[in-house]
Amino acid sequence: MQTDKRIIDMKSHLRKYLKILFLIFSVYLGSVLRAQDSTFVEKHGLITVSGNHIVDKNNEPIILRGMCLFWSQWESEFYNYDCIKWLRDDWKCTVIRASMGIEMGGYLDHPATEKEKIKTVIDACIDLGIYIIVDWHDHNAQEHRPQAIAFFQEIAQEYGEYPNLIYELFNEPEQDDWGTVVRPYLAAVIDSIRILDPDNLIIAGTPTWSQDVDIASNNPLSQNNIAYALHFYAAYQYHKQTLRNKATTALNNGIALFVTEFGTVLNTGDGPIDTAETRIWMNFMENNLISWCNWSIADKNETSAALKSGAASKGNWPDSVLTESGSLIRNYIIQGNRQLFDKIIVKKPVPMEFTFEQNYPNPFNSATQMNFELPVRANINLRIYDLRGNLICILLNKALPAGQYQITWNTGNDRNKVPSGVYLSQFIASFEKETVLVSRKLLLIK
Ligand code: MG
Repeated sequence: MQTDKRIIDMKSHLRKYLKILFLIFSVYLGSVLRAQDSTFVEKHGLITVSGNHIVDKNNEPIILRGMCLFWSQWESEFYNYDCIKWLRDDWKCTVIRASMGIEMGGYLDHPATEKEKIKTVIDACIDLGIYIIVDWHDHNAQEHRPQAIAFFQEIAQEYGEYPNLIYELFNEPEQDDWGTVVRPYLAAVIDSIRILDPDNLIIAGTPTWSQDVDIASNNPLSQNNIAYALHFYAAYQYHKQTLRNKATTALNNGIALFVTEFGTVLNTGDGPIDTAETRIWMNFMENNLISWCNWSIADKNETSAALKSGAASKGNWPDSVLTESGSLIRNYIIQGNRQLFDKIIVKKPVPMEFTFEQNYPNPFNSATQMNFELPVRANINLRIYDLRGNLICILLNKALPAGQYQITWNTGNDRNKVPSGVYLSQFIASFEKETVLVSRKLLLIK
């Protein structure tokens, strides 16, 4: 019986230890699960302007990449929770811009209806842990100052405590004077918001449809945490290098920019897509830490719309429902935000820029591989030379669509002509008027 008692004691001790172990493990597992569950906004918190760029709560520079919803009075079918969730989960958007139409049958005529649509999207973004830009989508906001103040005070009161919220006070002023028209409107609305919400990011529109960021930078607003809107449409002739030069002037003058709206097409929102210029803009924004939203989530029959006519309002869009612009931009968002998400699968992403990597293996004794990436369709000429400049072979000479490629140089086929030694690969990509040339050393040891 003694033995039995010892066994019972041992069993109860064991159970106690197991219980403690289980508790410790549960606490550990709980914290791991919580860490994995934390949302993008939980990780980055309140974003603020620091110098000429935006930083997160840890003072790390941050770039938000996402989509604009279309004017709320016209394409409001996409102003719903499931659509925003799809844009977060499938497109990897970290920001959504809700564009509340003001004139033309918008907020001025139907304040309760339009406000409700915007609040639906704000609530969704807060729940889903991404940032939300509340955009007063107006070209004449200086004439609607009292309405804007009342609206933004309500939003600040209700949502100012959430780090998700970003205010955008004036979508696109037209050719109005910065100092006497646009700036006074912005200053008044900012002051009215700051009474209720002292800290969330506010974006100020700039004259000439949010292009004159250089003019704004010469006389910036005096309040805290203000970025300035820069809008462009890549295919429009006046929205290319000259506009990037204005942006560079503004950055050099010390203000932070936010591309709250841009298109891959003409400034009408329609016409041909300019993929090459879009790529140049993408690189510009990435290099200058500028966050961006693309115009737009809509199934309207125009080329800037990301969705084809009749697309489901609640997301779950197959590739076949995306337009050329929608597909291109979705790839850019995934590419840009991929490091922010775990285990994301990218199906044939469009690369951000031309690359031609060092061959692998190197040194090699028979065959070696070369990887390259094309952000746009280009003519590729890939040649191998010896050190005296003699052409050994032409590996590739053809036009290829944007994508990721791998090519093998197999010297084993013709060993007598290719002795051990150092060789040079010459990669030339030509598109439109640009040429990219990369050369690499290859070492063949037989
Ligand atoms: Mg706040």
